[in-house]
Amino acid sequence: MTKPFKTLDDIGEVRGRRVLVREDLNVPMADGQVSDDTRLRATVPTVAELADRGAIVLVLAHFGRPKAPTPELSLAQIVRPYGELLGRPVRFVDWEGAADAVATMQPGDIAVLENTRFFPGEEKNDPAVIDRFAALGELYVNDAFSAAHRAHASTEGLAHRLPAFAGRAMEAELDALAKALGNPEHPVAAVVGGAKVSTKLAVLKHLVGRVDHLIIGGGMANTFLAARGVNVGKSLCEHDLTSTADEIMDSADRAGCTVHLPYDVVVATEFRANPATRTVNVHEVAADEMILDVGPSAVEALADVLKNCRTLVWNGPMGAFETSPFDAATVALARTAAALTQDGSLVSVAGGGDTVAALNQAGVAGAFTFVSTAGGAFLEWMEGRELPGVAALTR
Ligand code: ADP
Ligand code: MG
Repeated sequence: MTKPFKTLDDIGEVRGRRVLVREDLNVPMADGQVSDDTRLRATVPTVAELADRGAIVLVLAHFGRPKAPTPELSLAQIVRPYGELLGRPVRFVDWEGAADAVATMQPGDIAVLENTRFFPGEEKNDPAVIDRFAALGELYVNDAFSAAHRAHASTEGLAHRLPAFAGRAMEAELDALAKALGNPEHPVAAVVGGAKVSTKLAVLKHLVGRVDHLIIGGGMANTFLAARGVNVGKSLCEHDLTSTADEIMDSADRAGCTVHLPYDVVVATEFRANPATRTVNVHEVAADEMILDVGPSAVEALADVLKNCRTLVWNGPMGAFETSPFDAATVALARTAAALTQDGSLVSVAGGGDTVAALNQAGVAGAFTFVSTAGGAFLEWMEGRELPGVAALTR
């Protein structure tokens, strides 16, 4: 089937051609070392394939949020670890004299260009900055889904200036997301958790019209419970949003989407590791208690819901998973989803910073169909918004 965007299969002969490849190299650093190279590893398929096909590979990426060029945010420090990971030499090219440096490169050579955000116009999608970038290359590949929710010169503008293609990581991400919400197999379940309703309002509103089961957990479930008249004690709860929660439940009703709220919960009077806890019906939360996790009976019922679904999208943990033992519901439900995925009965797609951490903690991230590490871009996609970097790649 033809994809809605062009990929490296459509790019044609690249031997000796200069290809600008937008990647996400924005890795966390500690003491001058890369402390987590997940993002670097995600770039390898595209960069290695293009180099193997004889392209002159010019990697474009931002690093941090510079106000002005500064050595602390120079991509020069990424080049050595990146080359070690790729198992090939990688050059660093500063913006000063970039054209001359690129002119000396040979087929198969790889260079990382300096931080795109050293140009103030990068984030403004300034045509002059697009010109600067475009002058260096002949073709453009966007492989950075995580930056695709921004219309910047290197993420969006360039796609209109040069022939544009999705890289392998971008392609995998877009394929997985299309399978989960674009044209999914029904029934579809969404798990939405996390701390607050206010950060996920647009997600919830979009999902009720698309999924068959909306499973609400985490702190945000408290607001929904409060809207239903439950006394949530000292729990995290946005009391000013209870009427919004009601509206979401009403529109779910109208759309034929079943909303699942926990009916038993794990509570404690203090929020710390391993306090005294009780597992109670939601109607039995005492005034000095807070809800910190979904209870085991609710988790069992939710597992049965997932068993009858073909597709799952998941954002947000079911409880305060960083603090023991309030990871229990998240871990149990994640293991169920992973097992169903491995059995071939469920397509499971998850994303969100804390969600990825929770799935890693449960040891099941690799058993999901796809786990997106793109925080903001993943959420905007779950809100049903068009991502400018993706739209610019569309045929
Ligand atoms: P993501 O980063 O995956 O989008 P969020 O940032 O929305 O997820 O939510 C994650 C946070 O929600 C975690 O820090 C977790 O501790 C918190 N959380 C989940 N359930 C509760 C709860 N019942 N009470 C307080 N905090 C909670
Ligand atoms: Mg978060």
